[in-house]
Amino acid sequence: MSSAIEFDPIRLPREAQALRAEVRAFIGEEIAAGTIDPRAGETYSGFNPEFSRKLGARGWIGMTWPKRYGGQERSFLERFVVTEELRVANAPVLRHFTADRQSGPILLKYANERQKADILPRITRGECCFCIGMSEPDSGSDLFAAKTRATKTDGGWRINGTKVWTSNAQNADYMIGLFRTSAAAKENRRHGLTQFLVEMKSPGIKVNPIEDMSGRRDFNEVVFDDVFLADECVMGEVDMAWKQATSELAYERSGPERYLETSYILFELVRLLGPAPDARGAEGIGRLVAQIHVLRRMSISVNGMLQAGKEPSLEGSLVKDLGTVWEQELPSRARDLAAFCDAATEREVFDMLLAFALTVAPKLTIQGGTTEVLRGIIARGLGLR
Ligand SMILES: Cc1cc2nc3c(=O)[nH]c(=O)nc-3n(C[C@H](O)[C@H](O)[C@H](O)COP(=O)(O)OP(=O)(O)OC[C@H]3O[C@@H](n4cnc5c(N)ncnc54)[C@H](O)[C@@H]3O)c2cc1C
Repeated sequence: MSSAIEFDPIRLPREAQALRAEVRAFIGEEIAAGTIDPRAGETYSGFNPEFSRKLGARGWIGMTWPKRYGGQERSFLERFVVTEELRVANAPVLRHFTADRQSGPILLKYANERQKADILPRITRGECCFCIGMSEPDSGSDLFAAKTRATKTDGGWRINGTKVWTSNAQNADYMIGLFRTSAAAKENRRHGLTQFLVEMKSPGIKVNPIEDMSGRRDFNEVVFDDVFLADECVMGEVDMAWKQATSELAYERSGPERYLETSYILFELVRLLGPAPDARGAEGIGRLVAQIHVLRRMSISVNGMLQAGKEPSLEGSLVKDLGTVWEQELPSRARDLAAFCDAATEREVFDMLLAFALTVAPKLTIQGGTTEVLRGIIARGLGLR
């Protein structure tokens, strides 16, 4: 089956522009107070409960959700603006970001009333952290090979197995986990997996940190040893998670965080080359800015389509693929453009951030779906395979 790729020509509405000014003013205060340092690459998206609480108090977490659960009933385009401003400022959003982006929407759709009333307001106050338990040692791109088992027992389920690369599990209060509840069906190998809400303090869960090549310990192995989850922890239909995952992936793949993770290098490059760069520098910066402008328009379009109730999962995959390839190449392109510049004072910060960005870059095309896998999805969507 093929479907056309459609990017609706959406512009940010006026209320989103007013909100941008508000967010910038807040960020300015936080920079002055020393909470945020846009020129400190290694603290990027750090874990800062106090900062998350401040954003919550301003109504900038879960801002598209219903008011009765602590949301603001604002648009995805307004959320886009807040995300964009926080990302370029290098703000420490790790505590609430996953819950805000994708776990909250899952709860809104599938949790019972008690769970929603308990958890969603805590997320919007910036007091609740989620992680995503999909990948396993033998199941990454091929999620449908997941083996971590949920076995039915009296009043609930027993979980046994191991998840891996689980970002932020060491800080998380909850995980949305994908577990095998029955064998894959012959006619549909995607059948048999179920999404669960997991309280990370449940007895039997062990979180083992994994260090990445930049020296950070942001992701983990999570081992489940006979962990009990009550029936109410099932999110959606048993065995049918494959039907639920597509809209979650559109949220996960299309946001401005998918091309802004190394953007500080572009800003440093502009600072380094100064107000009158030579022709090579000007052309290089021009190209980079033109490219990020297009990515931004595409991402705004996907957010506008989400707002209109569409499911732009194919377009979201395109934004993720183009965006992560762009942000992955950015550090080495900036290094080339800066090669002949000897502005000593700016050079020191540029080199420090460049060294960090180069160690971060390799992961960008893996997290959230690899380049090859995304291109497979896009090709299938276009009817090419
Ligand atoms: C920084 C970071 C954070 C992460 N955070 C999380 C998280 O919070 N939760 C979570 O569940 N996972 C997380 N992941 C895991 C990530 O989703 C997986 O690493 C990713 O899906 C790839 O799976 P894999 O590592 O098993 O590689 P594999 O799937 O084994 O892939 C290996 C190589 O084969 C290629 N390949 C695989 N299948 C195909 C195919 N069908 N066609 C063409 N090529 C193919 C891939 O592109 C890749 O190059 C994270 C990963 C990183 C790097």
